Amino acid sequence: MLELDRIVAAIAAEMKAAPDRGKVADYIPPLACVPPSKFGIAVVLADGTCHLGGDAEEPFSIQSISKVFALTLALGELGDELWRRVGREPSGSAFNSIVQLESESGIPRNPFINAGAIVVADILLGRFRPNEVIGNLLRFVRNLAGDESIAIDEAVAHAEHQTGFRNFALAYYMRSFGNIRHAVEDTLSVYFHQCALAMSCHQLALAGRYLANDGRNPSTGQNVVTSQRARRINALMMSCGHYDNSGEFAFRTGLPGKSGVGGGILAVAPGIASITVWSPGLNEKGNSQLGSLALERLTQATGWSVFEPRPDNYA
Ligand code: GLU
Repeated sequence: MLELDRIVAAIAAEMKAAPDRGKVADYIPPLACVPPSKFGIAVVLADGTCHLGGDAEEPFSIQSISKVFALTLALGELGDELWRRVGREPSGSAFNSIVQLESESGIPRNPFINAGAIVVADILLGRFRPNEVIGNLLRFVRNLAGDESIAIDEAVAHAEHQTGFRNFALAYYMRSFGNIRHAVEDTLSVYFHQCALAMSCHQLALAGRYLANDGRNPSTGQNVVTSQRARRINALMMSCGHYDNSGEFAFRTGLPGKSGVGGGILAVAPGIASITVWSPGLNEKGNSQLGSLALERLTQATGWSVFEPRPDNYA
């Protein structure tokens, strides 16, 4: 067995048996039904080799991991103008916090907290209708993963609409500052549907390859974004991808990562691998408890870290 296969299998076995699994999110009702016993891991190397463990082929709600793909599309449409409406600093606050918006004039700290992602959804709307934006996003993700079977879970999108009172509050509050420019219903329809994308660890790791390969999708050879943009998205994932747990995640794994309340994490080892882990139980900050631990184990076993000195890179 290959060394990486052995590492992935050992991590999957440890996580499947772990007694302390965190708490499954229940504020979006369909998420509460996902068994906490699930654990999946997918590692896709730059050469396309896949190493899968546990429930790696089972789709789950990617939730906030979708913010990475939405940001990528919005930057493609608006370029650096986007940064007039969204900041690039860690918030140090919970994913759905409203407090900073008042003193910071309705400009969210970064595109990966809910307020920032709602502004990104508003930017994507541009001159389009919500259905067109949702269709574009779905096509984009399918194309990145090379998998036409990826779909949006309408039941999750509907449940988010029924229970997303905080997201409505954030959107209306930002609209009062002029930083939401479309009807709040339309902007949130885009946001709720992107969060309801259902993907497996395998599909997500395939979709994340452009971030590990300096902006290029290695299977199609297509430049999804410039290398500078890929590096900047990775920098934001590292500094802001885990809400008020981002420092801890960076400390433990040394990799950029984006979590979602469905229990998934997309992590990037630049030049090496795109990685996804999934375990639905969350820690007290809303990030996958065993997913974070699994990535810590993987980086310890492989030595992968953006801080690993590679002198050749600087020659
Ligand atoms: N759809 C979720 C919400 O808006 C996303 C949160 C997350 O995944 O962190 O509450």
